[in-house]
Amino acid sequence: MVRKKILLLPGDGIGPEIAAATATVLDCFRADVEVAEGLIGGAAIDQEGVPLSDATLAMAKASDAVLMGAVGGPKWDTLPFAARPERGLLRLRKELGLFANLRPALVFDALAESSTLKAEVVRGLDIMIVRELTGGIYFGEPRGIEDLGNGERRGVNTQVYTTSEIRRVARAAFTLARARKGRLCSVEKANVMESGVLWREEVTRLHAEEFPEVALSHMYADNCAMQLVRAPHQFDVIVTDNLFGDLLSDLAAMLTGSLGMLPSASLGAPGAPGLYEPVHGSAPDIAGKNLANPLAMILSAAMMLRLSCGLAQAAERIEAAVGRVLAKGLRTADLAAPSGTPVSTRAMAAAVVGEVQGSAG
Ligand code: NAD
Repeated sequence: MVRKKILLLPGDGIGPEIAAATATVLDCFRADVEVAEGLIGGAAIDQEGVPLSDATLAMAKASDAVLMGAVGGPKWDTLPFAARPERGLLRLRKELGLFANLRPALVFDALAESSTLKAEVVRGLDIMIVRELTGGIYFGEPRGIEDLGNGERRGVNTQVYTTSEIRRVARAAFTLARARKGRLCSVEKANVMESGVLWREEVTRLHAEEFPEVALSHMYADNCAMQLVRAPHQFDVIVTDNLFGDLLSDLAAMLTGSLGMLPSASLGAPGAPGLYEPVHGSAPDIAGKNLANPLAMILSAAMMLRLSCGLAQAAERIEAAVGRVLAKGLRTADLAAPSGTPVSTRAMAAAVVGEVQGSAG
């Protein structure tokens, strides 16, 4: 079998620490994947003068998937906006044509008590939110602030979606739902927005044409926010636009309790390399101290193996290993109880590696 090519971009702050930790887990699967490393963000600015070089971009495009740590930090905060570390990530997202952002809300049994919601509401939760990433109101024209000349000003943004934009993100969500519990909830506000009417019609049409075996439901975005907090277990996969997805994915993420546990994926056209990264940033306050929780990045790597490398079993072994490590009571400082003794980044990764190896065969 040809080994899948992974480009690892550690980035800044805690990025290099959690990337090194994640590399030890990926090393358990070296028969299936080969990992190359590149620079992004502040680290790339320091060594190459730009936050993402053309050479690194070419490596990304030639890979099966890109796995990133985090970018940014106080050292580069004074640079002009166009030269900042975050521009490297934005360029990567744009050049890879990533239009679907996937954020799972997965509650490990051992962490059910960490949620701000009651443990019985969130225990066993496994939701995937698919957010449209490149269209909608954040990009629509016309936009701007105009002076009306009478002491009044007017701010305008435009929510706009085309058929093909809706269909490609819906297809990604249906495909995911088909491989999971087979349920997709499409979320908009068709009651008050024409773009929502079109969204609902196109999702319904695609369902009939290509995915009749998936159970499709529709929900207004405001109701979805309420239902996510009231009874989140009713959901499997949720697909929604850029704006509603921005809000609902943050809301769903917090059901799980901790920033250090949240992976994400961004996907483009089928077969194109996906980008996988933890939801959190570069955490400069704890960088270089071997304190960071590596699990969000390790779980991002598991998503990558499943969605971009066709290695679902490897993904399951990593996720199960994380579950067992947590069940044994291991916690990095962000999750540890005040009375508990936290483990380091490296110790957490070593424990996951031990469990993955223990599950071999
Ligand atoms: P942050 O996510 O880096 O940190 C917020 C808080 O959570 C901090 O107290 C941090 O110590 C803690 N934290 C985050 N990840 C953790 C982990 N894995 N383990 C333990 N604790 C963790 O957000 P911020 O402080 O707002 O931003 C810091 C820098 O990161 C900024 O430069 C920002 O621009 C950048 N950032 C980058 C990304 C990205 O690369 N995708 C995302 C968000 C922020």
